[in-house]
Amino acid sequence: MTSIGQAHVVALSGGVGGAKLAYGLLQALPADSLSICLNTGDDFEHLGLHISPDIDTALYTLADLANPQTGWGRRDETWTFMQALDRLGGETWFQLGDGDLATHVERTCRLARGELLSGIVSDFARRLGIRARLVPMSDSQVRTRAITDEGEFDFQDYFVRLQCRPRIQAIRYMHADAARPAPAIESVLRDPGLEAIVICPSNPYLSIDPILAVPGMRSAIRAAGVPVVAVSPIIAGEAVKGPTAKIMRELGRPASANEIAHHYAGLIDGFVLDSRDRGLADTIGCSVHIADTLMRTTDDRIRLAGETLRFARTLAATPGGRRQ
Ligand code: GDP
Repeated sequence: MTSIGQAHVVALSGGVGGAKLAYGLLQALPADSLSICLNTGDDFEHLGLHISPDIDTALYTLADLANPQTGWGRRDETWTFMQALDRLGGETWFQLGDGDLATHVERTCRLARGELLSGIVSDFARRLGIRARLVPMSDSQVRTRAITDEGEFDFQDYFVRLQCRPRIQAIRYMHADAARPAPAIESVLRDPGLEAIVICPSNPYLSIDPILAVPGMRSAIRAAGVPVVAVSPIIAGEAVKGPTAKIMRELGRPASANEIAHHYAGLIDGFVLDSRDRGLADTIGCSVHIADTLMRTTDDRIRLAGETLRFARTLAATPGGRRQ
């Protein structure tokens, strides 16, 4: 595992979009030199189980167990549990495959025994052979809530059960004020070997803002004194997958890559802009690297990760390339 002082990179990530770049970073960096700070605002209790969707997407993606069709869950999954639950009249709106179920059961048992989520995730990553440190943003509970024209909903109610149909008016991160960053994240952000911080192409409101809402996280990122680079999750005014662009429009903001960069103003030193949006380069407000950011293949993930790391290193070497 990452030893203090060894050059390494921290990535902030949500689920599907973030995990794709995290996969590329893992391949592009030497083993044990990547730490991934994962959103837990989407976590919820369901059927008596503690479910951590973004953590599990990262675990399955980095362990090469992910389902490439859905982007969530495991490949080669079977569904006996869901079918049996359906027969008994149980709740089936949240799909839990048989293999996936083992993750939730084991996590729930260990939490009930008093283990911390960060310790459990670190152990799962090790057992799945992942040579990176996966860290939940906090060991305390933070819950993302969608305030919509149809009322206020728990995140998974809005995202999965209602399929993001209600119009978002605001988003809040319940209990964030009382949370603190997981100690493993605080220590990597303070490590003198830290080279760069990458904000993955994740949904800024649903995946990255909950991480930044944890008191002390933003200041620890700034205090790290290394380049902070974000990769755009918006390409040509649209999300590759999911409701990012829809939410931006509902919040009265233009669904554009420069809006994402402005959202992170004051935090980022550099922005990776998709080549289809090169016309926006002058409106980003910080250093820009233009790249094909669409990750269809494994090679795309590795190429984009390599370009992002080189961009961050260039910023580190450029006088004025980093915020002071
Ligand atoms: P979620 O928690 O599963 O919704 O996943 P994330 O928040 O990590 O990622 C969702 C975001 O990823 C969306 O805004 C997508 O546009 C973005 N995304 C997904 N795939 C890609 C890709 O290949 N390239 C880029 N640039 N963005 C992507």
